[in-house]
Amino acid sequence: MKKEKYFQLSQAAVEKLAAEFGTPLLVLSLKEVKKSYNVLRKYLPRVKVHYAIKANPHPEILRVMAELGSCFDVASDGEIHTLHDMGVAGSRMIYANPVKLGVGLEACRQCGVSKMTFDSASEIEKIKNKLPHATVLLRLRIDNSSAHVDLNKKFGASRENALELMLKAKEAGLDMAGIAFHVGSQTVSSDPYLYAMDIARELFEEAAAAGLHLRILDIGGGFPIPEPKVKFNLPEMLKQIAARLDEDFPETEIWAEPGRYICGTAVNLITSVVGVTERGGQPWYFLDEGLYGTFSGVLFDQWDFKLISFRESDEKVAATFAGPSCDSLDIMFRGRMTAPLEVGDLLLVPSCGAYTSASATTFNGFSKARFVVWEKVQDIAGEQPTLAK
Ligand SMILES: *Cc1c(COP(=O)(O)O)cnc(C)c1O
Repeated sequence: MKKEKYFQLSQAAVEKLAAEFGTPLLVLSLKEVKKSYNVLRKYLPRVKVHYAIKANPHPEILRVMAELGSCFDVASDGEIHTLHDMGVAGSRMIYANPVKLGVGLEACRQCGVSKMTFDSASEIEKIKNKLPHATVLLRLRIDNSSAHVDLNKKFGASRENALELMLKAKEAGLDMAGIAFHVGSQTVSSDPYLYAMDIARELFEEAAAAGLHLRILDIGGGFPIPEPKVKFNLPEMLKQIAARLDEDFPETEIWAEPGRYICGTAVNLITSVVGVTERGGQPWYFLDEGLYGTFSGVLFDQWDFKLISFRESDEKVAATFAGPSCDSLDIMFRGRMTAPLEVGDLLLVPSCGAYTSASATTFNGFSKARFVVWEKVQDIAGEQPTLAK
């Protein structure tokens, strides 16, 4: 198996960038964003990528994705207007929130968004009233308890109700075009996708028998990025998905909605130790970035971040890492093994581009971490990017 390489700063680059820009600092590699997009294009050549911008709506990521020709998955009026204001046509967006707000549907009208998902009869009514010619996909619920974040607890029509809902949408005059699913975020095997495709295949046939020709399958997001203690083989996964698409959906237009995979590995966080203390015989390290900032993913995304310290030490200690705010909830990691650290030490957190800064707050008056684009500050860091595992 060929090892995938991901964007990771060297110690020298971390030190130079921290000295120049201060910490906490988020370093975004646009080259890595492009690489991720191209990996999906390579292994899933028939798939039209719709980047799910909620994972990281940084304007530079949106710009690069727009330039690459990607389409977008949006979920709110704000996301629609952000892209529209950048010059992205509404025809390149899918409003993939099965429960839409009035202001969201209004934004669709203003910006020319006509593709959307639904999973209930009440949503058909709402769409029909605002956008009577909309192209709609039924969001199907796929039970996948193995998913890292299982979105199917909240969304999706059941297998039993699917056909009836699709026929209802057609009767309402909507362009009932296909089926969408999302197997759950950070899915590390192709099995849930293949399982979902089995059900979709059956529904395509049942719909055809009922006089409804479906032409689009949206396989959602969920493609994984490296995570401590988690093993997977992405090329193999994608090959299996592509093979099944060719076998079961040879004539169907295929869409996907990757979020994490596009932006997750493209960002490195540099954070500093700003306080050290000891409680119950264990060291506590306070960082200048916390649960209310980039590490919000610990809470909202249940993510296990990798922390890299540059201290060489044979001695390792089990430490607690806390954020800078005055809230006692603001603790990211407990019992994390590390070399003993001191105030002023820098820590590097690779692969922290997804569901991190997007859900960060300015709680307690702490600013959100500053972003720099790696390809623009490389000369300041004095080197070429290192591609490490
Ligand atoms: C969040 C979301 C995505 C992106 O999921 P990832 O796991 O980040 O790839 C795609 N589609 C929908 C409908 C979503 O809600």
